[in-house]
Amino acid sequence: DSGIGSWPARRARMTPGARAFVQDEAVVTYAEVDRLVEAVARGLRARGVTTGDRVAFLGLNSIELAVTLFATARLGAVFLPLNTRLAPPELAWILTDAEPALLIHADDFDEVVSAEAVATLGLPSHRFTAAAGHGLDTLAVDAAGERAERIDVEVGLDDVFMIQYTSGTSGRPKGVMLTHGNIAWNAFNLLVDVDIRSDEIALVTAPLFHTAALNQVLLPTFLKGGTSLIAARFDPAEAIATIERERVTLLFGVTSMYQALAQEPTWATADLDSLRSALSGGAPIPRTLLDTWQSRGLHIIQGYGLTEASPGTTMLRAGDGLDKLGSAGTPCFFTDVRVVAPGGEDAAPGEAGEVHVSGPNVTPGYWHNGAATEAAFDGPWLRTGDVAVLDDDGFLYVVDRVKDMFISGGENVYPAEVEQAIYTHPDVAETAVIGVPDERWGEVGRAVVVRRPDSVLTQEDLLKHLDGRLARYKIPKSVVFVDEIPHNASGKLLKSRVRELYGTPEG
Ligand code: AMP
Ligand code: MG
Repeated sequence: DSGIGSWPARRARMTPGARAFVQDEAVVTYAEVDRLVEAVARGLRARGVTTGDRVAFLGLNSIELAVTLFATARLGAVFLPLNTRLAPPELAWILTDAEPALLIHADDFDEVVSAEAVATLGLPSHRFTAAAGHGLDTLAVDAAGERAERIDVEVGLDDVFMIQYTSGTSGRPKGVMLTHGNIAWNAFNLLVDVDIRSDEIALVTAPLFHTAALNQVLLPTFLKGGTSLIAARFDPAEAIATIERERVTLLFGVTSMYQALAQEPTWATADLDSLRSALSGGAPIPRTLLDTWQSRGLHIIQGYGLTEASPGTTMLRAGDGLDKLGSAGTPCFFTDVRVVAPGGEDAAPGEAGEVHVSGPNVTPGYWHNGAATEAAFDGPWLRTGDVAVLDDDGFLYVVDRVKDMFISGGENVYPAEVEQAIYTHPDVAETAVIGVPDERWGEVGRAVVVRRPDSVLTQEDLLKHLDGRLARYKIPKSVVFVDEIPHNASGKLLKSRVRELYGTPEG
């Protein structure tokens, strides 16, 4: 049995007394995790869960989440983590698509689960209160006596381990099937690329229902026998205090988290020397933020990835040199990346093209959606829908989403590049650039901008600021100031919605 459900038993055999998980005051060792997982797997089986069934989980970060995922895997069943920020109709859509045999939910989500859209599905469910990994004791069935046989289901690397629904910045979310092998190989990539160690102390504050916190941090750390400190929510002051107190070595965050940490009053003086790896990914990270962290001697490791690749695809490693700052690095060890020019051939260095990825970490396809799977692959290569360029040394620079590009006077404009330039203005809190129809140029850029509080920034100021920073054709022709830019439940900017709201010629 090579499945991920066997990891707790293997770790318990090797490092039974080491700390696997810490949450608040609670410490759970590897031996204890293995016992909890076995008992919960028995409980799931008693509830009728069997090989191939989906087990949905709705709850904030908790030890219970980790226990559920290993227990599900041990039965050869499929873990289905749900985004806690989704509204009931969004959840209902995923649950209808995935048809789980059981929905496990934390008591904080009673209201969502009993909302009509979800309740009418009539799914078997189990409610729990998080309690240092023991919240599922009400579901668990303890192995009766010493002689009880352990659950023994043969699970192979090609079996599906989990289904993760992608955030969907356009259209309905799709269920990405990830096999035991996909996730294991992604973890192996991490061990090589980031050098995850057995004395790793990882701070897990990003949501575990997303691919990054789970697959880039918690699982590789577990595989090596390190410790994951699990926080239900991200609180920047608390995170800094935890890094100091627990001597945290590994951290994952998205841009907004790194920004919030850097804005904390304690950040400048806190002892952050223990941090070996500060990983980021999921969206471009503004250059100014990288520089801010660099000024404290901390190197944010930018990674590029996607749920479909489990997610690690490229990474800028600690030793890659400051001149590559802003790049998403080179491919992960076991993974291959191509940048494909519009004609279908490999793009020359400096030429933009679509990123294609292949490797043992890449999904076999989408759940119940053969058409989407077929459209996504070109032989072994997964088309990512992202535009990037490679430099002469093979470092990847992500430019934008294919769908967000627009053409002005025959020139391709990548809004992400324009946004980077707009972010250099200190009065800009957030921006989204879109193309709008224009009689003369076909399309021209429009910047939708949220100003920092009290700013009196005008369109004229901003356009003047861009003059000389960007080629003429890239500079937006109009600026719309708004209070808020729409985001999806994962916090990603919803370009499609921005286009709906602000994309008409007259604005
Ligand atoms: P998801 O499907 O939610 O896993 O998001 C994956 C998408 O996030 C990718 O297809 C990219 O569009 C974007 N993304 C991830 N990492 C980066 C990065 N380092 N720079 C720019 N975009 C990124
Ligand atoms: Mg995606």
